[in-house]
Amino acid sequence: MITARVFPGLLLHAVFLFAVLAIHSRSVEAIERIRVFPVIFFPQDAKLSKGRIDSAYQKMSDSLVHVQSHFRRLLISDTFLIEQNPDKVFRSARPHRYFLGSPNAKPDSAHLMLGELLRHYGETRESTRRVYVLVYVRPGEIECSWIDKHRMCIGGGRTIDSFPEPGGGIVQMEFSSLMENKPYRFLSTVTHEIGHGFGLTHVDCFNYDMRRNDSIMSYHDAHLPAELGKGKFYGNLNPEEYALLSLHRRAFPRFRYDPALHNPTGRPISGLMRCLLGPMDSSLGLPPRKGYRLYYDGKKVSGPEAALYTYQAAEDNCRWNRKHRPGIDVGCTFNGRPLSYWRKRIPTR
Ligand SMILES: [Zn+2]
Repeated sequence: MITARVFPGLLLHAVFLFAVLAIHSRSVEAIERIRVFPVIFFPQDAKLSKGRIDSAYQKMSDSLVHVQSHFRRLLISDTFLIEQNPDKVFRSARPHRYFLGSPNAKPDSAHLMLGELLRHYGETRESTRRVYVLVYVRPGEIECSWIDKHRMCIGGGRTIDSFPEPGGGIVQMEFSSLMENKPYRFLSTVTHEIGHGFGLTHVDCFNYDMRRNDSIMSYHDAHLPAELGKGKFYGNLNPEEYALLSLHRRAFPRFRYDPALHNPTGRPISGLMRCLLGPMDSSLGLPPRKGYRLYYDGKKVSGPEAALYTYQAAEDNCRWNRKHRPGIDVGCTFNGRPLSYWRKRIPTR
């Protein structure tokens, strides 16, 4: 009987199809998404009244929601998520001079502050699902300076690990910026630094003008209003930046790069993997499942430091070995997959 033979096949097919669809639709939900996590960061010797902490945290939350809507306007199909922080503050047991005592210290303040936060929340550089956005409170709210190296201002953003699978990140802002837009405007700056937190670098790496290009990743400081809700809120993304954010599946799982929409002039995209923020250093530990591995005839020959290679450095090293090691079967992986796996996923136009 034909029906008896066909029907179970169809049924199985339908069950299989349903399972695939269910897995697919669940996959976006199941991804442990990276979330922006606001925190007011106190060294041991700084303090603020509870009222001031509450109003600062509220101001910070409102600003981040504003930046989140701006990313929604740019990406349309997705934006980053924000995780509310019930603690509002992190109080370190270490004094200001530990974090910012010497401006050229290694590890730098970003590594020191992030190291404290990861330890406090029981996370590692690989396990964290947060881009920590911290505002730093100075003892006595002393004004920071761009000149005096004893009270140098901080302001910056980093991704912990690099593309093609970046994880969490850190953004450091001055408390005075949040409260008074000094020494820089909070909204426009935090938008730019969150871009760094998701792994974006500056527009000049793609040969755009740092002062004139209107991406959030330029220094075109006419973009954004100083205050919430005032003026036009703009600052765009370049095709390369759209392409990179589409690779950041943990932060923007629903966003897809579409050349017709995001690169309407058909600008050739090259050097995408060259223009990436590198991973943060080994003071945060090495990422055991990430980074570059080199194999000769199936045997691993790369050292632990290869875990911190950028994708581009991995490709360069692999190419060099293939050229200079004739007779050896040279194998190269990045984040556990062959380099070619990632190469195929990188948009070129
Ligand atoms: Zn920057």
